[in-house]
Amino acid sequence: MRGKQWCLAVPRREAEETRRRLLEEGLLDRRYKPRPEGDAILLPVTEEVPGAVRCEFEAVPEPVVLPRHELVGGIAIMQENDPAGAERLLASRPSLATVLFPETAVEGEYRTRRFAVLAGAPTTRTRVTEYGLSFDVDLAHAYFSARLSTERQRVLRAMGEGERVLDMFAGVGPFAITLARKAALVVAADLNPAAVHLLIENIALNRTGNVIPMLADAARLPRLGFAPFDRIVMNLPLAAPEFLPAAAALCRDGGTIHLYALEEEEGEYLPRIREVTQGEVVEREVRTYSPGKWHAVYDVVVEKEEM
Ligand code: SAM
Repeated sequence: MRGKQWCLAVPRREAEETRRRLLEEGLLDRRYKPRPEGDAILLPVTEEVPGAVRCEFEAVPEPVVLPRHELVGGIAIMQENDPAGAERLLASRPSLATVLFPETAVEGEYRTRRFAVLAGAPTTRTRVTEYGLSFDVDLAHAYFSARLSTERQRVLRAMGEGERVLDMFAGVGPFAITLARKAALVVAADLNPAAVHLLIENIALNRTGNVIPMLADAARLPRLGFAPFDRIVMNLPLAAPEFLPAAAALCRDGGTIHLYALEEEEGEYLPRIREVTQGEVVEREVRTYSPGKWHAVYDVVVEKEEM
């Protein structure tokens, strides 16, 4: 938008100093963009100061205020059920295809949510790129959280080359496929058939040749005759501590378990972990979940008693 406006015409070499002075005095009109004319710069001012003349100016576009959201690939998940805000959001980013609102919390054994489509294509499926890997996800049918991407890289950095890794609650495979970069072998299990379907697609998508996908209950894995693993990822924060005996049985002496847990007190699970694994434990906070609750990760180095 253009408009006639009071302004000062100042020589170019004095423009920056004058602009700062006007800004300090609250006289610079920030709704308009300064512009050159001949040897001068025209600085828009808020009132008829001495020497001011009327000039045409281009208005600075108002910043668009976007509703709060989380991005997962081409999908934005909004915190409010606000269809008008969703349309603004969709229009603001060419990479967005869909805006969703979660109608439920993360729930059930499969840890999924139900969504309403607020704007864009009616789908819950999208492709996420993370540190050079791609993951096809379907937010209504299998769990996925983009917020754990740095945590996956932390575990990858902690790994040695050629490890045998078990991901007990693999979902669509973000940990398993990330860790496969250094591992000799990754066994990736999940109970949710939709998650395992996507896991298989993601193995193919990333041409990962060393991940074995399994539709399996983690509690049953010790009965399947695997050789001990060097590293085990347990990302089922509400219930992972229940599966610790299975993980301890599957881990080698000196191997590492990464246990993700939702806790109300720091170190809540330390006694249980020490009892089951006899191990050395380091706990860190991953992020706040809700007031008074934290997602924590315990890195546990397992010790097996001599038989
Ligand atoms: N690790 C994945 C990630 O970071 O995206 C998925 C984590 S999600 C919080 C937990 C997963 O555990 C879900 O995909 C759910 O289906 C699966 N799950 C729940 N109970 C299970 C069990 N007893 N055995 C195997 N998988 C299970």
